[in-house]
Amino acid sequence: MVTVFYSSSFCCAGHSFDTTRKARWVADSLREHPIPEVELREPQPLTAQEVAEVHDAAYVRAIETGQPRDLAASQGFNWDPGLWPMVLSSNGGAVAAARMARREGVSGSLSSGLHHARHECGAGFCTFNGLVLAAKAVLAEGARSVLILDLDAHCGGGTHSLVEDDSRIWQMDVSVSSVDRYEPCDRATLDVVEVASEYLPTVTSRLQEWGGQGPRFDLCLYNAGMDPYQGCPIGGFPGSTRSPWRIVSKSSSSGARRARSRWPSCSRAVTSGRGWIG
Ligand SMILES: [Zn+2]
Repeated sequence: MVTVFYSSSFCCAGHSFDTTRKARWVADSLREHPIPEVELREPQPLTAQEVAEVHDAAYVRAIETGQPRDLAASQGFNWDPGLWPMVLSSNGGAVAAARMARREGVSGSLSSGLHHARHECGAGFCTFNGLVLAAKAVLAEGARSVLILDLDAHCGGGTHSLVEDDSRIWQMDVSVSSVDRYEPCDRATLDVVEVASEYLPTVTSRLQEWGGQGPRFDLCLYNAGMDPYQGCPIGGFPGSTRSPWRIVSKSSSSGARRARSRWPSCSRAVTSGRGWIG
C-alpha cells in the first residue's frame, strides 16, 4: 500500500488557480477512480516553529498575519487568511511523506508550490519550501544524506539557496526552462534541456551516474512537476507528451529500485506530487 498525503486544507487559500487547487482535482480523481494500493491520508500540519527551522521568522509571521502585505504575497498571489492553514498543511504533507517513505519505502504527497521559496521570502507561487523542510526533518531523525530529484519544468533555485551549504543534501535538477536558474555546486547538477528528444536521455544519464557513483542516499525526494507537459501554458515543452512522461515515471522508479538494490537497508523514495508550477 502506498500512502499519499492530502487534506482539503491543501486548497483552502482564497486565491484560486492551478497551484492552489490541483491537489483537489487529483484527490477527487483518486476517489472517483481508485488506484489499487494507493490510499489518501490527512497529514499533521506543521507548526510555525517547525517552518522557522528553514524560513526566517519574520517571513513566517508575515504569511500568518498578512503583514507586511508585500512580504506575505511575495510568492506571487494575493494573501488571505486561508493561506496560512493551506501552507502548514501542504508542507506538512511533504514532511509526513518523507517520514513515511523512510519507514515504508515509498510515499507521496499532493503538495504544491515548494521549490522556488527562499529563506526570507516566497517566489514563483511557492510559499514555503516543503522539499527542504522534509529533507531537514528526516536528517534530524537520523538520515545521513538526502537526494532532491527535481523534474519540474523550472529550475529549483529556491531549494538550491537553502541547501547549498548543507553537505548532507544533494540536488539533481533537470529543467526545460531557465527560470530560477542557479550555479550548481559539487553536490548539485542542473541540466536545462532544450530539445525534447534529449530529455529522457538526460534524466536517465544523471540517474545512472549518481546511482553508480553517488553517495549512499537514505532518501530521495522526487519533486514531480508536471509542467514540462507540452499542454502547460507556463512550462510546456514541445514534444513532451503523455507517453514520454510515463517513461520518465518508469525511469525514476527504476532509479529508486536500483538504489534500493544497491543499498537495500537504507534507500528510500518519496514522491511529492506536483502540478503546473512548483
Ligand atoms: Zn515549474
